[in-house]
Amino acid sequence: MSRLRRKRMIFLAKGRLVTLADAVAQELARFAAPPESDREAGGILLGRYRGPHVEVLKCTTPMPEDRRTRFGFVRQDKGHQEIASREWFESGGAVNFVGEWHTHPERHPTPSWVDRRSWRKQLRRHKSDPLVFIIVGTAATYCEIGSDGHLVAMGKIG
Ligand SMILES: [Zn+2]
Repeated sequence: MSRLRRKRMIFLAKGRLVTLADAVAQELARFAAPPESDREAGGILLGRYRGPHVEVLKCTTPMPEDRRTRFGFVRQDKGHQEIASREWFESGGAVNFVGEWHTHPERHPTPSWVDRRSWRKQLRRHKSDPLVFIIVGTAATYCEIGSDGHLVAMGKIG
C-alpha cells in the first residue's frame, strides 16, 4: 500500500497551505501508475478556500472528449465544468473550482513552459481567488499556487 493512501497530502509555502483530501491523493496516484500512466491524465480540482489556504476536496478525472497522449493532456470535455457547477450548487456555493491537475511520465515532475503559459492564462481569467496547479509524477507530486498573477512553487511531495 502506498504512502499516498495513508496520509493527507499537505503542501506549505510562505505561510500558505494546500491540502489534498485522501480520496483526491488516491485518485491522482492511480493515474500516475500503470496502466493509466501510459498516457497523461488530468482534471480539475474542487474545494474550499480558508483564508489564504486551499482545501482540495474532490477532483475530476479524464473524460471521453479529453485528449490523452504519451506527453500531453488536453482537457476539452464539458463534463469537468458540469461537475464543478453541480458541486458548487449542491454545496450552497462552498465548493468551488480551485485549480487543475495533470500527470507527467517522469518521476519528479517539473512544469513545462506550456504548463506555465496555460497556468498564467488561467490566472488572468480567474482573478478573484488563488488557483492550485498540480503535476503528478510517478514518484512525486508537484504543486504551485497562483494568485494576483503570480505563481509560487509549493514544492514536491513523494
Ligand atoms: Zn505538464
